[in-house]
Amino acid sequence: MNPQTTYRNCPACNSTAVLGLEKFSKDIWKIAECSVCHFVFLENPVKYKALEEDFSWEKTFWLEDGERKKKRGMVKRAAYYLRILGYTLKANPQTKYLKLLGAGSILDIGCGDVVRWTAPFIPFGIEVSKHLHALADAKMRALGGECYQGSGAEIIFKLKKNHFDSVMMHSYLEHEIQYRELLEGCFRCLKPGGKAFVRVPNYGSLNRRVSGAKWPGFRYPDHVNYFTQHSLRAAAQEAGFQCKITNKAKIWLDDNIQALLTKPATT
Ligand SMILES: [Zn+2]
Repeated sequence: MNPQTTYRNCPACNSTAVLGLEKFSKDIWKIAECSVCHFVFLENPVKYKALEEDFSWEKTFWLEDGERKKKRGMVKRAAYYLRILGYTLKANPQTKYLKLLGAGSILDIGCGDVVRWTAPFIPFGIEVSKHLHALADAKMRALGGECYQGSGAEIIFKLKKNHFDSVMMHSYLEHEIQYRELLEGCFRCLKPGGKAFVRVPNYGSLNRRVSGAKWPGFRYPDHVNYFTQHSLRAAAQEAGFQCKITNKAKIWLDDNIQALLTKPATT
């Protein structure tokens, strides 16, 4: 399959001065570092139209996962399944997020076909894959919400201003080509005082430095932005949010960054 790709400047500062990182690039996918702000990103992401069907996340994820499993040794494979089991046994994450975000309407961006939120949340979502969107929309409507189909950075500006109580971006922002616009859109559609939760892979982690090109945060072509806590905070503040890194204490050991963004009550 020959995907339609597009080239972009540094998505963080719009500079055209970028340095290709051959050691992290793979097949046709070019990872680059901005020479001005040092943000690392995929230079030639797949166009949104292809993400709607042929290159949708659910297809590329399983392809990539199959490749990774073949390469894994037995010990690593056992560790992988233990981790999956750990996730399954964990308490319902809804309790954790209720404390962080409060109840009410929640917009889950890049929700896939999963509805993670039930009462007292009212689940809304945005999903680019047409197939997954149809599944999520039916489930969300049954719970009083709705799912919107399209690319996050475009759809979000069609939603009502000051409307949602909270926004969830769990493993989403690393996929979003126009992440700065997306954050602006989140700020716009949240009620004053509303909160957004973000979880992205941590390019600044120790594991990334040790693992090099084998770091599991590299996913081609799904992940298009490689954040550090500093670049994530800068993007959030530029959109108008107050930003709190919630796993700051052990961030250098953590392969993910978690952040709570707050829209000030008076803007
Ligand atoms: Zn830059």
